[in-house]
Amino acid sequence: MRNQTKHFINGEWTDSTGSETIDVINPATEEVMGTISSGTEEDLDKAVKAARAAFPSFSRSTKEERIQWLKNIAEGYEARKDELIEVMTDELGSPLSVSEEVHFAAGLGHFRQAAECLEDFSFTEDRDGHTLMKESIGVSGLITPWNFPTNQTSTKIASAIAAGSPVVLKPASKTPFAAMILAEIIDEAGVPKGAFNLVNGTGSVIGNGISSHPGIDFVSFTGSGAVGEKIMQNAAETIKKVALELGGKSPLIVLDDADVKEAAKTALSSIMTNTGQVCSAGTRVFIPQSMKEDFEKTIVEMLEEFPVGDPRKEGVATGPLVSEDQWETVQSYIEKGEKEATVLAGGTGKPEGLETGYFARPTIFTDVSHDAVIAQEEIFGPVTTLFTYEDVDQAIEMANDTIYGLAGYIVGNDPETIRHVASNIRAGRIKINNAKTDFNGPFGGYKQSGIGREWGDFGIEEYLEIKSVHGLPSS
Ligand code: NAD
Repeated sequence: MRNQTKHFINGEWTDSTGSETIDVINPATEEVMGTISSGTEEDLDKAVKAARAAFPSFSRSTKEERIQWLKNIAEGYEARKDELIEVMTDELGSPLSVSEEVHFAAGLGHFRQAAECLEDFSFTEDRDGHTLMKESIGVSGLITPWNFPTNQTSTKIASAIAAGSPVVLKPASKTPFAAMILAEIIDEAGVPKGAFNLVNGTGSVIGNGISSHPGIDFVSFTGSGAVGEKIMQNAAETIKKVALELGGKSPLIVLDDADVKEAAKTALSSIMTNTGQVCSAGTRVFIPQSMKEDFEKTIVEMLEEFPVGDPRKEGVATGPLVSEDQWETVQSYIEKGEKEATVLAGGTGKPEGLETGYFARPTIFTDVSHDAVIAQEEIFGPVTTLFTYEDVDQAIEMANDTIYGLAGYIVGNDPETIRHVASNIRAGRIKINNAKTDFNGPFGGYKQSGIGREWGDFGIEEYLEIKSVHGLPSS
């Protein structure tokens, strides 16, 4: 049991001013794995004061100091590898291999990338007629979701440190422990006290408090569209800048020259990795009409390559959903889908032998109409929808027929068609034939998938203000 009921404020683990706690449930066992504090507005206020006090010196720290802190954090993070992997498996339910190869690797990638970006980053630039200065935006409030416990926290923290912006982080209360390990790592990395603060708690108290606090200059939020909307409204009262990383319903376009197995594998990976709880998952799969039969047969056969089960067991590819609520939500979408489309595999209920834990049956729908609920709304579970198309422009049109624009995927070979599709999908990130992820590639959405970009140099820019200085005497 992890009973970690303190917040990290001004360089110290600090008791909450309230007495309420939140239980953290292991989704594979349905047992309580630990407890955190449900922070109060007073706790948040203390953290904001600490961050504001740290601002004058932290925002003037040198590039070399920031690079060193980021490198120290990356080193400390690597040293706690085993613990981070285990904690994420227990709090999120991701199989040990996913916790290592996806979650652990992402956090490390962001700290390393930010240090690397800083090496070449210019905070001052002489331009014709004026000098440009890029300065820390002030105090940043960071609000993160549960589905990537180290990826979302690390990309925000790394960019903020690189920009010299002190932060107050509120991690998701379903998966807070990896973030608390991160706080210990940051503390040991020599980051000045007050520059990093963590307050645990609910969205309605701490999250809401961050978005409306007059002492916070910028809110970087990752989560659902509904909460993103609330954050924008709150932030408007104090004219805070907001960056929003929201949901998606991303298209995967299979070209007619694609290898069917490769295409089916890409489609399944999208919904089976992290149990489909991935904002950028390619959950609308567009297949050439001529490939329909072959693709459907292949994807169903391939399901056995993605075994669902105990995330601590060797060989398991897919764990449970994060919580009972999430399980109920996914079930209700599957029920709707059963009325709207043809079930190719899966359905409602739990997989055989997995009655304990929030396990769902991987479900594939075909013959889906593009205006069906399951075709338009983010399900956030191991559920995919298949559509057919006659020509590639029709596929692009359907791909763009969504309120979202986070990502897009292409599987195929013809370079000209690939370029045509990539440049016509209205989304912030396109992946072709499972290309390797570059941590310097900006991440963020078009349309209702968000505002702003994270990762690498674009991520750092979000935490900076731009000043133009005219008539600066030369030094
Ligand atoms: P959520 O919006 O319910 O919660 C996200 C965070 O916001 C949590 O820390 C929560 O406590 C907090 N919160 C809740 N109510 C709040 C309020 N009124 N004010 C301020 N903060 C509040 O989302 P979730 O269920 O944790 O995560 C799933 C969602 O996140 C999905 O929609 C997914 O697509 C999205 N997501 C997006 C990205 C991206 O980069 N675009 C990445 C991961 C997840």
